[in-house]
Amino acid sequence: MKQSLRLGQVAGIPVGVHWSVLVIAALIAASLGGGVLPGAAPGQVPGLYWTIAVATSVLFLASLLAHELAHALVARWRAVPVQSITLWLFGGVTQMQGEARTPRNELEISVVGPLTSLAVAGLAFVMAAFMPGPRLVLSALMWLALMNLLLGVFNMLPGAPLDGGRVLHAVLWWRTRDRARADRAAARAGQGLGLLLVGLGMAEVLFTSWAGGLWLMIIGWFLAGAAGTEMAARSAREGLGGVRIRDVMTPLPDLAPAWLDVEEFVSGVASRSHQSVFPVVAFGGEPIGYVNLEALAAVPPSQRGSTRLDRLARPLPPDRILGPDDDAATLLERPTMGPMVALVIEGGHVAGMVTAQDLSRMVRLALLRRAS
Ligand SMILES: [Zn+2]
Repeated sequence: MKQSLRLGQVAGIPVGVHWSVLVIAALIAASLGGGVLPGAAPGQVPGLYWTIAVATSVLFLASLLAHELAHALVARWRAVPVQSITLWLFGGVTQMQGEARTPRNELEISVVGPLTSLAVAGLAFVMAAFMPGPRLVLSALMWLALMNLLLGVFNMLPGAPLDGGRVLHAVLWWRTRDRARADRAAARAGQGLGLLLVGLGMAEVLFTSWAGGLWLMIIGWFLAGAAGTEMAARSAREGLGGVRIRDVMTPLPDLAPAWLDVEEFVSGVASRSHQSVFPVVAFGGEPIGYVNLEALAAVPPSQRGSTRLDRLARPLPPDRILGPDDDAATLLERPTMGPMVALVIEGGHVAGMVTAQDLSRMVRLALLRRAS
């Protein structure tokens, strides 16, 4: 998931929010300020309700973050590198590079998130029930307790990609010693669970309130879709066993020398080449990024003689610079965007590139290989 807004780092882990998190924050504040709080503690001025509603909504997002941080810290402790945490419409996502090494580690990493939510729920409940204070604040705390309880319980439902699905996976993996089989079972459980939620949501729309039911349907639909995607990615990974980057890359691609201008490059290399994307290299052959035909076409004709390619070059993040003997399956672990998926470097020079087409061909072949 792309982070739209970086909030900063917590314990060295980049934390960000996707714009869609504003939708939940606004929905929560609206429902608290417009109904829940005035109902629970009547007789206050509207401004006060809204202030507490917004503060509670922020605290709720902070408790989502605590849930994700728990996953991230335990993952790091168990030697699974953590890339980032992002909050979005359906809660939080902790992006990890790689997977747990043992069923036990997977169990620890996945169960600690819901446990954190339950702990936050318990803390908020104790504060709301036993602390002295204005009724309005105590009601807000009680609401936080209830939401975190729901969050903890919902996430323990046994279907991937929910935490409960990972727990199920860990247990099956441990019992059967067959990771691939556990993968399929957990993903299938996720699809079943998603469809069940869609069905429950429909029933709720028909018989009680349309708003809650619609939300349930959306969550169920999302869950079933995510479980399906996960299943496809895992199947592809299985089919990719033993395949190297050099087997899937476009070898020795035509290069775009950084010092050429657009006009020279288009009339020369780009016109003869079959590629639509080119690695941009400096004078010594070292790569500085890539450029595609679209970026070249975006330069107005009057400026093509004076625009050098290095000004157009889009850099690739360090984790997209690979060696020819790296595992091809690593390409599936990172979300890809754009025409250039990876540059392949050997001895400081470009030995190949993996384009979006190379990647999609690789996945299709892997699935074919697995099916045969
Ligand atoms: Zn979680």
